[in-house]
Amino acid sequence: MSTGKLIVFSAPSGSGKTTIVKHLLGLDYLNLAFSISATSRSKRGDEKDGEDYYFLTANAFKEKIKAGEFLEWEEVYRDSFYGTLHAEVERIWAMGKNVIFDIDVAGGLRIKKKFPNETLAVFVKPPSIDELKIRLKKRKTESEEKINMRIAKASIELATAPQFDKIIKNYDLNIALKEAEQLVADFVGVKKP
Ligand code: 5GP
Repeated sequence: MSTGKLIVFSAPSGSGKTTIVKHLLGLDYLNLAFSISATSRSKRGDEKDGEDYYFLTANAFKEKIKAGEFLEWEEVYRDSFYGTLHAEVERIWAMGKNVIFDIDVAGGLRIKKKFPNETLAVFVKPPSIDELKIRLKKRKTESEEKINMRIAKASIELATAPQFDKIIKNYDLNIALKEAEQLVADFVGVKKP
């Protein structure tokens, strides 16, 4: 099968990586398609099955783990499984596109390890843990308990930043967006039209 490139954006929850990934997906010249992950967490807001995630029950998720259908998977938070299906990457490569991932730090590093030459792994760094807390609270999509879980994980994730190919500091969103665009354009070998 012909293989495109793999672009991984990983960061603690609330760092702005989803905003960056959505921006890049809007730039046609980069020829990217979003890797839709599978998850056992429940739907949030107006998320749609097969668009934001493939929403599975925990049992269905575990069956797929047993069947070896995942390229990588993580129990990102207790009882919340997230993973990338082999079939998803194959679907995107078959379209002749590059794959862009919005996944957690451990998953991102695992993909880099499996496809070292095809992968650009980018870590998005938030200004501080306090700022992360403010952003997660503003988002109003998680309970206080879930926010605290995400914050606790963030400190551990920040320590993995040096293992990534590139680090983008998301202190000013516009600057971060430009930086991300340049990195990806260089990696996939295209010029801004
Ligand atoms: P959320 O619940 O906010 O959508 O995502 C929680 C965390 O799980 C985020 O850090 C997100 O990037 C990560 N995540 C989403 N999909 C995957 C995946 O396929 N694999 C892994 N390892 N993490 C994922």
